[in-house]
Amino acid sequence: MASRTPLMAGNWKMNLDHLQATQLVQKLDWSLKDAEHDFAKVEVAVCPPFTALRTVQTLVEGDKLQIVYGAQDISEHDEGAYTGEVSGSMLAKLGCTYAIIGHSERREYHAESDELLNRKVQAAYKHGLTPILCCGEALEVRKAGKQVEHVLAQIEADLAGIPAEQVKSIVIAYEPIWAIGTGEVATPEDAQEVCGAIRGKLAELYGQATADGIRILYGGSVKSSNVADIMVKPDVDGALVGGASLKPEEFAKICGFD
Ligand code: PEP
Repeated sequence: MASRTPLMAGNWKMNLDHLQATQLVQKLDWSLKDAEHDFAKVEVAVCPPFTALRTVQTLVEGDKLQIVYGAQDISEHDEGAYTGEVSGSMLAKLGCTYAIIGHSERREYHAESDELLNRKVQAAYKHGLTPILCCGEALEVRKAGKQVEHVLAQIEADLAGIPAEQVKSIVIAYEPIWAIGTGEVATPEDAQEVCGAIRGKLAELYGQATADGIRILYGGSVKSSNVADIMVKPDVDGALVGGASLKPEEFAKICGFD
């Protein structure tokens, strides 16, 4: 089986100006260094707002930090009259490794459909960015016991037509909506149930070897106190962390989960 390097990715959402972003990345780097963090064993990424990406790039490149970074969204378009949008080529020039695509807050507040997200996944690959593709069910869906079929339908639609050579680098983040920012964490078994089913679907679509190489993250109220229990599950390869990623010492502890 392919070995998968765990990824801890911080989603800052609409928080921190570019000056605060510098402080957070510096403090995170110090905390990781204090903990003798081994970046080869656990990759660490931050996803600041667009307005802080240039600052983070300057700091990471200037100080040769091993923290990588990404955007929280990407336009489906390359350039042109799309007011407010930020293209993949712009993000690539800013040194982004990742682009979060289809976070539940974008699906819900910006009515992003699976068809649009599929085009955003294509746009990310076109510009050499790795998508962190989010999926997850609302509380009503979970109460109806339909979380697996709901999430697998999202994955199948979002990846339609994406070839195996591209998809092998994707990161999938399973984030049950009812656990995001609520303090309500899915049990490790809940996380494994859906992450395992996602890997099964990837195997069906792309073959077992490709599926075994893809990282699947869990997201939803992850903290240093619960991350280890989630990380022992065989199909969980890291976490997408919201609130706790704004606290550098806490996020560094999450990164050093074992
Ligand atoms: C998120 O927004 O991706 C997230 C998981 O948030 P939180 O960790 O705050 O629940």
